Amino acid sequence: MDDAVTMDKIVALCKRRGFIFPSSEIYGGLGSSYDYGHYGVLLKTNVKAQWWRSMLSERDDIVALDAAILMHPRTWEASGHLAGFTDPLVDCKTCGQRFRADHLDQLACGQKPSKHPGEADVCELTEARDFNLMFETTIGPVRESGTTVYLRPETAQGIFVNFKNVLQFSRKKPPFGIAQVGKSFRNEITPGNFVFRTREFEQMEMEFFVAPAEAQQWFEHWLAERERWYTDLGIRPDHLRMRPHDPDELSHYSSATSDVEYRFPIGWSELEGIANRGDFDLTQHTEFSGEKLEYFDQASGERYVPHVIEPAAGADRATLAFLVDAYDEEEVEGESRTVLRLHPQLAPVKVAILPLVRKDGQPEIAKEIHADLRRRMQAEYDEGGSIGKRYRRQDEIGTPWGVTVDHQTLEDRTVTLRDRDSLEQERIVIDALGPELERRLAAPWQSPKLSG
Ligand code: ATP
Repeated sequence: MDDAVTMDKIVALCKRRGFIFPSSEIYGGLGSSYDYGHYGVLLKTNVKAQWWRSMLSERDDIVALDAAILMHPRTWEASGHLAGFTDPLVDCKTCGQRFRADHLDQLACGQKPSKHPGEADVCELTEARDFNLMFETTIGPVRESGTTVYLRPETAQGIFVNFKNVLQFSRKKPPFGIAQVGKSFRNEITPGNFVFRTREFEQMEMEFFVAPAEAQQWFEHWLAERERWYTDLGIRPDHLRMRPHDPDELSHYSSATSDVEYRFPIGWSELEGIANRGDFDLTQHTEFSGEKLEYFDQASGERYVPHVIEPAAGADRATLAFLVDAYDEEEVEGESRTVLRLHPQLAPVKVAILPLVRKDGQPEIAKEIHADLRRRMQAEYDEGGSIGKRYRRQDEIGTPWGVTVDHQTLEDRTVTLRDRDSLEQERIVIDALGPELERRLAAPWQSPKLSG
């Protein structure tokens, strides 16, 4: 089935329904900065909660961490970011724009947008030079004498520098992991494609520490686990692929990296990178800090620097992929409807409770039902506007179930339960609603677009 989705439609829906919109819009917005509104917050929170669940609740070999964004500047010397976290940048002397030299074939010329930078006669591109992506700021009141620090460009280093602390306090030993979710900052030269690439974004990263001989096996384990995470949450398997890096793409310390890629309307693009980082990080931090970051196995008497397997995902990119994968348009009885076919676990609101009319005692019963259901799951009460309009609104925010209270409810305490995807409506007694919705929410789910 051909997808109706385009990036423009996603941007428009996100704005219309208050998921995501440009930051500081009353001042004209700030390029590639976005704010998340109510439904966007609920959706991204669910994405992160599912990630935490897969890391913490479903296994017992990973612990959580929340490290500071501002870290000792030596961290970035040790990690190699200060010297090497750069992108090649070219300037165009004609239009004054800056471009990422390795993305020219995806970018538009500042004067003739139908061409790529450098292709039009008027273009005058400079030689490429390296541009460090880290944002700098100063600690202390006086810029000149203060200490330069950096907004972290990844969450991973907060994990490595805490290796010893966690080893001590968590009573874990390899193989074990440390997971973290948090903001990262990169001064991207060419951000864009909505929240796919922004300068401020949220990462979900986990560093898994293993005995060197077991690294390859754990790398493969995490490739399979991370692929399953996306498909269990409803991403269509034919829109997801694992792409191993070519040898010339690999970071110098990585023996293997695979990207999880999603087929966005802009083409196949990275959602997550899974890397076998060897002992690079712990060795570097040992050298720069003087602290030994290693593991001593008392049973075997063996001492070693653990190797690291890192699944590094983006919360905003994943949220965008779930939105894109869910977006659908269809004709129903001569009317078109837009619907987000989100996995119920991800849907911002699980159930909407709607009185058919705003009289005859219907709102009172609907509010009673709402009071019960909201204790079990995210529920919304809505009595404003025609029932058709209210359903359309819930479809567009991806609410999987709608409960309608009508005149019959007052007679026999039954309501209609409507399914977002099949549009089937069934009558159900009020007392059975809570358990039935909980059962549905916990059931395995697959995208109805697969059978479309
Ligand atoms: P890219 O090649 O797209 O710049 P990367 O390989 O540099 O990404 P990593 O350093 O591996 O990315 O970061 C892990 C994840 O963090 C990415 O897969 C992505 O989901 C997310 N991420 C990285 N940079 C950004 C950004 N500028 N905006 C939004 N998400 C990002």
